[in-house]
Amino acid sequence: MRLQNKVILITGAASGIGKSTALLFGREGAQVIVNDLDEAKGIETVNEITGAGGAARFIQADVTHSDSVKAMVEQIIQAYGRIDVLFNNAGISGVGALHELEPDAWDRIMSINVKGVFLPSKHVLPHMMERKSGSIINMSSCIAEIGLARRASYAATKGAVLALTKSMQVDYAPYGIRVNALLPGTILTPFVENYLRTSYDDPEAAVASLKSRQLSSEMGRPEDVASAALFLASDESKFMMGSPLYIDGGVTFG
Ligand code: NAD
Repeated sequence: MRLQNKVILITGAASGIGKSTALLFGREGAQVIVNDLDEAKGIETVNEITGAGGAARFIQADVTHSDSVKAMVEQIIQAYGRIDVLFNNAGISGVGALHELEPDAWDRIMSINVKGVFLPSKHVLPHMMERKSGSIINMSSCIAEIGLARRASYAATKGAVLALTKSMQVDYAPYGIRVNALLPGTILTPFVENYLRTSYDDPEAAVASLKSRQLSSEMGRPEDVASAALFLASDESKFMMGSPLYIDGGVTFG
């Protein structure tokens, strides 16, 4: 097992990529802490992990609220004594060219996607620094590096996460902590499938258009991102520091 006994906190783990990663980490022997706002779906994820013989617990917390995140981290430290891996995965999407965006929507996406990386990291880091070890995985996106139509606010958040990852890596390398970023392309999570269904007259044409930007003929699946997260969480990636890891079917370089 590649994550035997590692204590791993995954934010936004009740759905999509976070859930798929939580299930995989559970199968690989980790003690998985499933965080989300959605209690019912979070508990469902935990039950799937434990039902398959893994170890997991759900903690409800809002990654945009410092006190809520602090209480979650304290609860984990009390129960397990440490956090080996933090996967900052929680995030939302945003659609629109810049002039179409409302200031409130801008603040909301910035808060969840960027402050939602800052706060869990801020509260977990002192514990990792004390132990001089840890791996932090930040969820960016290939949109941090390529221009896509009408995704201005989302692109700004994911660019910020990539820059933050590099800066964090420099500050915490002396403490034996690794900080890397995942840059997925379009991944067919329930959220994306719903978005395609409701935002396009012809969802199949929308998928075909997305595929035409890739080198791969397949669409990405949550499991594809989960395997990359597994690599970054495990000691197999011990020489990776501050790296962007692309899981995008070749969109970025195609
Ligand atoms: P999803 O909507 O399926 O899952 C996101 C989860 O985050 C949800 O369960 C939601 O309840 C939770 N969440 C939202 N706000 C929260 C908060 N304030 N506190 C705690 N939890 C909160 O989405 P997904 O498609 O699996 O995306 C997961 C991450 O991957 C996001 O950061 C997203 O931007 C990123 N990403 C997704 C894609 C894609 O195509 N799906 C591509 C690149 C990057």
